[in-house]
Amino acid sequence: MAASELPVLRDLDKPQQKDLDRCVHCGLCLNSCPTYRVLGVEMDSPRGRIYQMVQVHNGAEISASYQQHLDLCLACRGCETACPSGVQYGRLIEAARAEIENRVQRPFLTRLLRRFVFGSLLPSPALLKMAAAGMYVYQNFGLQALARGLGILKLMGKMGELEKLAPPAEFPTFFSAYGKVFPAEGKRRHKVALLGGCIANISFARLNEATVRVLQKNGCEVHVPRGQTCCGALHVHSGIREDARRLARRNIDALLGEGFDAILTNSAGCGSTLKEYNELLEHDEAYKAGAEKFSRLVKDINEFLAAIGLNPRMGNLPLRVTYQDSCHLAHGQKVRAAPRQLLKAVPGLEFQEMPLSDLCCGSAGIYNVLQTGMSMQVLGRKMELANSVPANVIATANTGCMLQLRAGVAMHGKGQRVAHVIEILDEAYRKA
Ligand code: SF4
Ligand code: SF4
Repeated sequence: MAASELPVLRDLDKPQQKDLDRCVHCGLCLNSCPTYRVLGVEMDSPRGRIYQMVQVHNGAEISASYQQHLDLCLACRGCETACPSGVQYGRLIEAARAEIENRVQRPFLTRLLRRFVFGSLLPSPALLKMAAAGMYVYQNFGLQALARGLGILKLMGKMGELEKLAPPAEFPTFFSAYGKVFPAEGKRRHKVALLGGCIANISFARLNEATVRVLQKNGCEVHVPRGQTCCGALHVHSGIREDARRLARRNIDALLGEGFDAILTNSAGCGSTLKEYNELLEHDEAYKAGAEKFSRLVKDINEFLAAIGLNPRMGNLPLRVTYQDSCHLAHGQKVRAAPRQLLKAVPGLEFQEMPLSDLCCGSAGIYNVLQTGMSMQVLGRKMELANSVPANVIATANTGCMLQLRAGVAMHGKGQRVAHVIEILDEAYRKA
């Protein structure tokens, strides 16, 4: 697409009348909203936020208060599931944030930091590997223990609090698998591509490897294409849609022509955005058709394994497991049964349903970094629900949720282990 066409796409990045009109203000979504449940404030409910979007659509200024109410939204899309009128709240909040991004000038240092993180760091394997090396040294050579022991983190205010939420760096990173093909065990049934993510490549490298092994056990030839890049989910959630479109085009160019039966991700947040490339590029004539095809090929790993029929040759795992629905899997992709079905297929595993399992845990991409106070309150309530279930493992299907729930267990838990559904399957296959 010619660069001159970009401003046209940007002008469309705001809530559309037809999407706003769907809300009939019935309020049936209020109880499914984590921020409304904590604050009880209408303006921090889905209905209140949509009302404010309508005001801006009708010409009201983008005020600081409007930004705050929208910033406090987790974009968990719980309200979308609850809404009987079919309001696509995810589409609205992403468009509203993009409009803010395009119309409001942020302070210089904030712009610089956002430019670096979203424009340079996340799409760059080289920079991510450098960040991973720094984190690894800090976390594994006594520096973290020293900083914590001396109380230095307490003096660092917000930075110190965030340190607790920082993901662990894992070596080797999953970037070392890029360009490789992993053969199917037994007869090849499917040829699939695996997307490694951005931060997941350095903080969930072992989970990505487990994903490859589980797919191999299920007759898949797994390709980890070299040309892939960050999916753009964090960009979309932050309103930075032009950068997200650039990343989407790169992924489409790298993966679409390779004849894959499916393009897979083990991260629900990524999957949701990848499945919506068709919406992201709906006005890009050069990529529209490719984006639609790409979105159709994208599958969450749970959804894919449940659909192809899981290889049952697993060992016994005497675990009591509960499951936390990842918002972008349950509400974004409407995938609820598949992860439960996979867990229940593991011999010896006892499954325990958690009450309100699809209520957000407060992770929400980088929300826990930007809105730490609210995120921790939402997490506290989630841990009360998790603790009410007699389970020694909390399983989930999203890397962000795993980090958040681990922090939750450390602060409020009963020593539960937090694991991805795929890690449990991998363990069961290894035990066979
Ligand atoms: S978003 Fe849906 S459930 Fe919520 S107030 Fe609007 S119509 Fe009602
Ligand atoms: S996306 Fe989540 S936090 Fe935002 S309004 Fe909907 S339910 Fe509330």
